[in-house]
Amino acid sequence: MIDRVYSKYPEWFSAPLFRKDVIDVIDSKIQENASANPQITLQSKGRPSGPYESLTDRSKRRITSDIRKDFTPDQLLDATSTSLWTSHEPKKAKIVKAVSLSSPNTLRKLDNAILRKETTMAQYSAEEALALIIDLYLGIEAYRTLRQGALHHGFDLYPSYHEVLKAKSQTYPLNIFVNEMECSVRLQEILDLTAKRILMTYEEDILKKVSKFTIVSKYGMDGSTGYSKYKQRSEEEIDEDNLFLISFIPIRLEGVSEEKTIVIWTNPRPSSTRLCRPIKLLFKKETTELIKVEAGLLEKEVDALTDSSIRLYDLNFRVSHKMFFSMIDGKVMQVIGNIKSSQVCVICQAKPTEMNDLNRVQNREINHEMLKYGLSPLHAYIRFYECILLISYRLDFKKWRASGDNRRKLEEEKKRVQRELRTELGLIVDIPCPGGSGTSNDGNSARRFFDEYEISSRITRVDSTLLKRLGVILKVINTNFEIDSEKFNQYAQETAQLYVEKYPWFYMPKSMHQILIHGGDVISYLLVPIGSLSEEAQETRNKDNKRLRIYHTRKTSRISGNEDLMHGLLASSDPCIVGLRKEPKTNKSSSFSSEVLSLLKEYTWQDEEL
Ligand SMILES: [Zn+2]
Repeated sequence: MIDRVYSKYPEWFSAPLFRKDVIDVIDSKIQENASANPQITLQSKGRPSGPYESLTDRSKRRITSDIRKDFTPDQLLDATSTSLWTSHEPKKAKIVKAVSLSSPNTLRKLDNAILRKETTMAQYSAEEALALIIDLYLGIEAYRTLRQGALHHGFDLYPSYHEVLKAKSQTYPLNIFVNEMECSVRLQEILDLTAKRILMTYEEDILKKVSKFTIVSKYGMDGSTGYSKYKQRSEEEIDEDNLFLISFIPIRLEGVSEEKTIVIWTNPRPSSTRLCRPIKLLFKKETTELIKVEAGLLEKEVDALTDSSIRLYDLNFRVSHKMFFSMIDGKVMQVIGNIKSSQVCVICQAKPTEMNDLNRVQNREINHEMLKYGLSPLHAYIRFYECILLISYRLDFKKWRASGDNRRKLEEEKKRVQRELRTELGLIVDIPCPGGSGTSNDGNSARRFFDEYEISSRITRVDSTLLKRLGVILKVINTNFEIDSEKFNQYAQETAQLYVEKYPWFYMPKSMHQILIHGGDVISYLLVPIGSLSEEAQETRNKDNKRLRIYHTRKTSRISGNEDLMHGLLASSDPCIVGLRKEPKTNKSSSFSSEVLSLLKEYTWQDEEL
């Protein structure tokens, strides 16, 4: 547990809280004491009472009393942690460091781990019960049954539902606007609340060390379909099948301590829905018009943002906000960039027919404004995968357009590739989804396809080096680590070169062009890891929404149903509640190939390897 917590915060090593001077002073103190009074030497040499570890607690206290007198507990913890590092005890060092900087949640878990055997029965707090209800999708009745059952067996384990509701209402901002078609909160209010709830997970002592906080968030919008229709009367025609969701995710908390900016917290799972905070939900179809209107309204709110002022532990804190509009897919980016065709590059406006002329494409003028929207790394997976399939179907005649007899060849080859990918890798390729929205080609299929590039290459007959390299690039832009933009650029250029050498007759799709040609620029433009800006969470959120809507909303009226859905989204993404929810599995960087690691900035993954 501590290992995992620790590995997510490599910044802690470089934080100013790590103080070489303190350690030096302690070292010299020890030396001084050792020469003045040989009994106090920490080296056991020649001491009759045996090594330090074997002394009684009382003797240890006596020996260390001098050191304790001169330093604060925090200084001592820092010194201990660093000294353990230098004596090659990274695990112990991590634990000590984690103790000195952890949030109350981490401390509680640590405490539980140590005291597990002696734990006495304790009731779930209202927040813990709320986390349980969210994790298990429990309805009111299910929760009451669970509680009654425990009471019947003599355990007052769960708080009353009334108390849970009280805790839940703490996760709502001041105002929630609701009508039959939509439900929304004010961006400023939800940011204020989120900032406060994040700070609440830290203890006063830690917060006091920091003078100014900044929360970096990503935000965006996405439409989804396939929602259940309920038989409810309403004044106007409502498109219940479609939900358009606007949300944001905090990805990092920075603070200024001793005039240096330090990273206090990084969202360890920025692609998960866990901290995906709702701003607005609308039962409307995702159209160009809707995207334009909503993006316009949202940008206005972002521009008008002011710092959150937070009262906590009888202290005042200021939190400023930095927002990246990066949780968007190609469609939204196209609308924002005001680009007419979906096949034109949103950054340099190259047309499909120009994409394979690398020399010309690299010298095109680029619209720097568009770099800030990131790379849509999840969709890149699907688009790359589909591009390789389209090339594969055409390998017998090597032409972009298939007409006449080539049409037949294409269909035959497509069937063979689909069949073999299904039997060998379990992939269901190019099957339209019911309801006509998209196909069976999803992020997971694409990941599998590139992970097993040798098999994929044999089946599709597309060059295996190209598949391998595209897989490396996709992995890199989907990690939560900082990328070395120069190395990335070099690798991407070579890959683009290989692509046009092998398949000059198939125009590189826009999404691949944007990553191979402009990826390096986007990476150096954005100051946070590309993967942490991914649009993936919002996509997954859509699945969650459907379940929430079915199990957690009143069906009596649309207005109450919409309000319940908003409440559910607010509670399940609340920073205090998320910390209490069960931990999902995570990917460790150790599963990355050396090629992936070579494109990342070293310091960000080294600690994780320990
Ligand atoms: Zn371009």
